[in-house]
Amino acid sequence: MSDSKTRTALVHGGTKRSQWNEVSEAIFLTQGFVYDSAEAAEQRFLKAGDDEFIYARYGNPTMRMFEDRLAGYLGYEDGFACTSGMAAVSGALMALCKAGDRVVASRALFGSCLYVLEEVLGRYGVDIVLVDGRDTAAWDAALTPGTRAVFLESISNPTLEVIDLGHVCRAAHRVGALVIVDDAMATPVFSYARDCDADLVVISTTKHVDGQGRMLGGMICGSKELIRGPIEAYMKHTGGAMNPFAAWSHLKALETLELRVRAQAAGAVQVADALSGHDKVSFVHYPTHRDHPQQELALRQAPSGGTVLAFEIKGGKAACFRVLNALNTILISNNFADAKSIVTHPATTTHQRLPQEQKDTLGITPGLVRLSIGLEDPADIIADLMQALEAA
Ligand SMILES: *Cc1c(COP(=O)(O)O)cnc(C)c1O
Repeated sequence: MSDSKTRTALVHGGTKRSQWNEVSEAIFLTQGFVYDSAEAAEQRFLKAGDDEFIYARYGNPTMRMFEDRLAGYLGYEDGFACTSGMAAVSGALMALCKAGDRVVASRALFGSCLYVLEEVLGRYGVDIVLVDGRDTAAWDAALTPGTRAVFLESISNPTLEVIDLGHVCRAAHRVGALVIVDDAMATPVFSYARDCDADLVVISTTKHVDGQGRMLGGMICGSKELIRGPIEAYMKHTGGAMNPFAAWSHLKALETLELRVRAQAAGAVQVADALSGHDKVSFVHYPTHRDHPQQELALRQAPSGGTVLAFEIKGGKAACFRVLNALNTILISNNFADAKSIVTHPATTTHQRLPQEQKDTLGITPGLVRLSIGLEDPADIIADLMQALEAA
C-alpha cells in the first residue's frame, strides 16, 4: 500500500486557511471571485495559478481542499470533484474518448456504467468490447494496439468478482491504453489502483467517503497532466463540478474515513464467517474470505475485501423475501457503504432490468442478497441475520 495512505493525510491533507486562520475548514459558498485589477483578471483567464479561482463551475477553494485531500491520500497528483459518482465515470470516459476509439471493459458492471459505455459512448461511435473481468487471457486477447481505454470495477457489484488489476494495467499499458478504475467497492482505504499504476481512478464518494447516507459525490483522480488537462476542460465546460457545501461535507467526512471503513470491514469479516456454512445459505462471497473462489488474488491485492458481502439464500426469491422482511436492524434499501447496515435484493431492484440471460451470466440469482455492513455492533448484525434466516 502507498505511503500516502495515512490518517494524518485524511485529517490535514489539502487544508487551506483564510485570513481568519480557522481550525475547521471553511465553506466558500461563492459563485465568483473578485480581481484586484482588470490586468489581474486578464492574467487569471490566461492561466490560473494553484490558489486562483475564476468561477465555481470550474472549482472553488472548498472543492480544491477535498480534491487535494482525497487524491493525495490515494497517492495521485490531482483530482476533480464531481456532482456524483456517475458524473465522475461519464466525465472520465467522455473526456478521453472520441468516435472510432475502442474501449475494453469488464462485463460485471454497475448498470449506469454499462449505460454510459454502451448507450452513450456507443451513440458517439466508440467501440465497446466487454470481457469477463476475471479472465486474464480474455483481457490479453481484447487489448489490441489502438485500444484507447480500459474501464473496470476493481471489485464488482453485486457479486464481488475480483480483477487482477496489476495484470490488466500492464497489458493495457503495453498497447498504450489508459486504465480507468471504478473503485466504489474496493473503498479508498483499501484501494490498490495507484499501486497497480491505474491512470485514473473514479470514486463514487457517495459511498464510503460520505459514508453516512447524506451526500452524492464523486471524484476523478490521476496525474496533473490528465486531471488539469482533458478532465478539467470537459468537467468545467459541461457543469459536473461538485458544489461547495457537498465538498465541505465530504472533506469533513474524510477525517473519519479510515476509522469507519476499518470498523465496517472488520464487521464484514465476522458476518461472512457467521453466514459461511449456515444451512439456509448456499454460498457467501466476500473477496478475502476462504469461501471466495478468488481469495488468493484478493489477498495479494489488498489486506481487506471491503465492507460489502453477497450471499445466496436457499429457496429462491420467496425464501429470500421472507428473510429480508424478518430483519429488524438491517434496512432494506439499495445503496451501500452507509453507517447503517443495508440489505439489497439485486435481482428485483438494482439489476431488475437486466435480461435474464445477463443475470445468469453475472450470477445474479433469485436468492442472491447483497449486504452492506454499517457501524452497528457486528454481534447485533449477526443476531439480526440469524433470527431472520429462521424465516427462510
Ligand atoms: C454507486 C456506484 C456508482 C455511481 O455513484 P453515484 O454517486 O451514485 O453516482 C458508480 N459505480 C459503482 C461501482 C457504484 O457502486
